[in-house]
Amino acid sequence: MAEIHLKNVSRRWHNFTAVDDLTLQIPDREFLVLLGPSGCGKSTTMRMIAGLEDVSSGEIWMGGKLMNHLEPKDRDVSMVFQSYGLYPNMTVYENIRFPLKIRGIPASEHKQRVMKAAEMVELTPFLDRRPAALSGGQRQRVALARAIVREPNCFLMDEPLSNLDAKLRVSTRAQIANLHHALKTTTIYVTHDQVEAMTLADRVVVMKGGIAQQVGKPMEIYDRPANTFVASFIGSPAMNLIDGDIADGTFSNPYLTVSGLPHAARGPVTLGFRAEDVSVVSEGGNLSAPVYSVENLGDSTMFAIKGAHDDLISLKADKTARMAIGETVHAHVPAAACHVFDRESGLRID
Ligand code: ATP
Repeated sequence: MAEIHLKNVSRRWHNFTAVDDLTLQIPDREFLVLLGPSGCGKSTTMRMIAGLEDVSSGEIWMGGKLMNHLEPKDRDVSMVFQSYGLYPNMTVYENIRFPLKIRGIPASEHKQRVMKAAEMVELTPFLDRRPAALSGGQRQRVALARAIVREPNCFLMDEPLSNLDAKLRVSTRAQIANLHHALKTTTIYVTHDQVEAMTLADRVVVMKGGIAQQVGKPMEIYDRPANTFVASFIGSPAMNLIDGDIADGTFSNPYLTVSGLPHAARGPVTLGFRAEDVSVVSEGGNLSAPVYSVENLGDSTMFAIKGAHDDLISLKADKTARMAIGETVHAHVPAAACHVFDRESGLRID
């Protein structure tokens, strides 16, 4: 069992708080992603779970045991970092076997366990090579195999795909998803990449300034962001966020009016809507503004239009859509696709 429970965990350095009163219940077998921009405290959180960093206050429980004062080696977690941390003078086989030697696993079990781990990440043909003779993707797979071979209670992965090129990142990401499906080991995964979070996670914790902004399944967070920070961090392109005023269920600003919003709020708000929810119409619609940029993506066309106050708004149109820069585009933003946030606090208004 590797249920992990963080109770009011904080990490402070002098008067700076890197992680602020974080409470999380991570069920056994869950794939939890800590997502946020650089400096939001996600690595610190993971390092506290690993035992590499002290907790300033709060408690970390794993499998019903208090971990706060246990050494990293006694926590039964395996870590995978973005720098692979391989031993250059050892072969792939020896690198994968190393944790078994350290932990005193009987030598008679080594070969079978190394071969199984190597097979899971398709490294069998490379077992005699040294890390220098491997590609970046292969090295990261050695690091994964070395984590797997111990059969730990929990995997902790800190930006494991960051050093890979775009194509390898996609294939290694799929491999990590597949490994989790096969092993069902509780995994905590740190990234600043919302695509990794959306594609890998059972649940995502979106962090900012050491504080969890929202915890939920990827689609819950995508469909109902708790605040403007989460709304702008999840999804590509980012959600359009436009300032205006709301009264009697109608949002308005100089270039956009949306009626029929089921909100009783009055006053200054931020309206959110996603590029894919806007349809370009030949005339009319509730949004008109000049085209600022056009990007043909192959399967679709992205337009950015520029409203008053230099607001840039993304619209996703059919791949055949044609529009010239400077031309006025008419579009329809449906009320049902809109999110309303308090302008001052950024919090979602339901
Ligand atoms: P990144 O993606 O850049 O690694 P992160 O979200 O993982 O960012 P952390 O590494 O957890 O962020 O750092 C959180 C904050 O704590 C940062 O502002 C960082 O400067 C600060 N911090 C981390 N380690 C220390 C330390 N040893 N002493 C003081 N401040 C630290």
